[in-house]
Amino acid sequence: MCGIVGYAGGRQASEVILKGLQRLEYRGYDSAGMALLNDDLELIKVRGKVRDLADLAEKHDPHGTVGIGHTRWATHGEPNDVNAHPHTGTHRQFALVHNGIIENYNVIRQDLEKKGHTFTGETDTEVLAHLIEEIHEMSDIDFYQAVQQALLQVEGTYGIAIVHKYHPDRIIVARKGSPLLIGVGDGEYFVASDASPVIEYTHKVVYLEDEEIAVITRDGYEVSTLKNVRLTKEVHELAMNLEQIEKGGFPHFMLKEIFEQGDTIGDCMRGRLIVDENRIQLGGLDGYVDRLCDARRVIIAACGTSWHSGLVGEYLFEYLARIPVEVEYASEFRYREQLIDEQDVMIVISQSGETADTLAALREAKRRGALVLGICNVVGSTIARETDAGVYTHAGPEIGVASTKAFTAQVTVLTMMAMLAGRHRKVLSDELMRELVRELRDVPARVRAILEDTSGIEKVARMFTYAPNFLYLGRSYNFPVALEGALKLKEISYIHAEGYPAAEMKHGPIALIDEHMPVVVIAATDHTNEKVVSNIEEVKARKGRIIAISSNGQSDVARLAEFNLSIPEIHDCLSPLLAVIPLQLLSYHIAVNRKCHVDQPRNLAKSVTVE
Ligand code: GLU
Repeated sequence: MCGIVGYAGGRQASEVILKGLQRLEYRGYDSAGMALLNDDLELIKVRGKVRDLADLAEKHDPHGTVGIGHTRWATHGEPNDVNAHPHTGTHRQFALVHNGIIENYNVIRQDLEKKGHTFTGETDTEVLAHLIEEIHEMSDIDFYQAVQQALLQVEGTYGIAIVHKYHPDRIIVARKGSPLLIGVGDGEYFVASDASPVIEYTHKVVYLEDEEIAVITRDGYEVSTLKNVRLTKEVHELAMNLEQIEKGGFPHFMLKEIFEQGDTIGDCMRGRLIVDENRIQLGGLDGYVDRLCDARRVIIAACGTSWHSGLVGEYLFEYLARIPVEVEYASEFRYREQLIDEQDVMIVISQSGETADTLAALREAKRRGALVLGICNVVGSTIARETDAGVYTHAGPEIGVASTKAFTAQVTVLTMMAMLAGRHRKVLSDELMRELVRELRDVPARVRAILEDTSGIEKVARMFTYAPNFLYLGRSYNFPVALEGALKLKEISYIHAEGYPAAEMKHGPIALIDEHMPVVVIAATDHTNEKVVSNIEEVKARKGRIIAISSNGQSDVARLAEFNLSIPEIHDCLSPLLAVIPLQLLSYHIAVNRKCHVDQPRNLAKSVTVE
């Protein structure tokens, strides 16, 4: 959350910053701002989107070849012009942008107020700016040291970038808990929350770790710890390209990403699903498979959509590998009595690899001796770096705030992990393995088949565009898909929706059903087909409007449903990979019909780096 970008080089910094902020806008869009160093310190900031900042910048005609920018996802203080970053101290000599939360901001603020500081807004970030100013002005240490001192006094998380009027050639950056990387160009250097603003100029990046601070100029960068130990950092080569982070002719990133799934699921399996040899090979787990297979239990920790893929993983691991699994919200796990030790294995799942709660769960599990494996999309992300081992999803950059292709790639990875473990533990038969390997190989083609004709989904979307509520029901592997479908609808259409295990409906939600209630039933699993059919009957008896996701062979479901969206037949345990696609599209089309901002839904942001 919150996007940071900074530039020091030969170009006009404002151009690099505005373009970079646009690419980071998935991280927040409450306000945007930038600070440029020219003869003065020029500050431009505004409530709203990067577009609004660009319009404002046009009037100012900003110049300067060193600067920083920010797109905000508010945690403290409402989104308005004053609370927009960058922030300054009383004397406006420097400007600071921040991603994260300064948890002890209130105590510091009260103390600084007693010392005569006045604050213009409500953010925790402004307090950090004043703290730096206070330390700098009240001691004889230089500005860089004052930043170090201040950071040692704050609790919470930060990724920051600072420019100072009297040091017009440099940017100071530091991180704890929020991601930052340095882009290494030729006579130009960058700082950014992720690689998307940098990729156009350079493929070389340096990842900052927690409690590291760096000074960036157009001639280079120096990294130290907050306690002043100089570091030599490894320079990484980025694998992504510019095309991947652009819309490619689609009206929204979300739609582009939905349509990419035929490819991304295939990419995720490439070199890992060895069809001829009837086996799975996951290089990222080399040396750790024994420990995974001997686990007393596997704990999957994740948030949001990744938590839903974790739930699918639970069914998969139990069925294919016979390993007991618990799925935890990372945010709950971290503050619970943690009964986890070296006999357990934790799998953390995060698209961005930066999710704050998931990272905290990972660290706690490691501290207690558990092996921690990661499933991440962003290569080189903090979670990917801190886990003992792991498997990348290789879905390419996901920019739409509502996650789609990351979900199917995560489920694909979990399926392959469960199959690998099942073989290793000798509980998955040759025959079933062969069937699943073949079926998995065919998933991309089946996904494409669903995407070929989406007119049925669009029709249902038109029908229910203005429904105030939705119910999603599914059983077994598709219960998590029901949760995911409901989440997608909430996220981008702002329609209240609930996902339920189909049979649980009669313990409460059935009371909601009347002739106005759309009920999406995911009936694509064979072994529960009869039960789901009974659930459909129960909804129908109360005049609910059934929208079924059935597989081609399920004629009884098709007959009963008012709307039937059929998907190709597939083994039950792989059905989430197909069943989720119409649900993603349904929410997308409803959101478009309702004129919602699909890629930037209100109040949300991607890459949740705050607790
Ligand atoms: N806490 C800061 C604010 O509210 C930054 C928020 C964030 O990084 O998400 O402005």
